[in-house]
Amino acid sequence: MNKPPNGVVSMPREVLHLLIDLPGEADMETLRAAGDAGGNALLDAFAQWSKQSATDELADLPVDVFRERAAEFLGYCGWGDVSVASNSDALIEVSIADCWETRRKHGEQSGCHLTTGLLHGFFAALAGYELGVMELECAELGSGGSCRFVIGTPEMVDSIYAEISAEAGDKG
Ligand SMILES: [Zn+2]
Repeated sequence: MNKPPNGVVSMPREVLHLLIDLPGEADMETLRAAGDAGGNALLDAFAQWSKQSATDELADLPVDVFRERAAEFLGYCGWGDVSVASNSDALIEVSIADCWETRRKHGEQSGCHLTTGLLHGFFAALAGYELGVMELECAELGSGGSCRFVIGTPEMVDSIYAEISAEAGDKG
């Protein structure tokens, strides 16, 4: 099982097709939609990749093994140093150190929208129902360290967002 060379990010074809047609400066919604379009393909690639190292079907894996393997796969795709964990307030938390998207240099970086879209498409395809994804912290936006994403039901993510907004309001 060979890793892609350093600096190369594997991206589903569906995403690339959409990216090619984008104007120079795409907005957040467009980037998220492009990432989201690749969710199914990414999940298929994960299932295939996982089969090469184990005979178990994804659905049969214990949750902690699944999380470990998903993190390994996303790292293998060139996303960065990925970890996947449970979070009491959400279903899943994904943390990416050295996130590939923060290394794209362009004028106005406002977070990792393609990654957010890809995570949404991937986990929604896996779960089989609608999920919300939010980037809690972005390395590019001053937090340094890792980009952190939470994935949960839309209600869970809304309430996390509301909490953060309230906290930000208290400070300001
Ligand atoms: Zn980020």
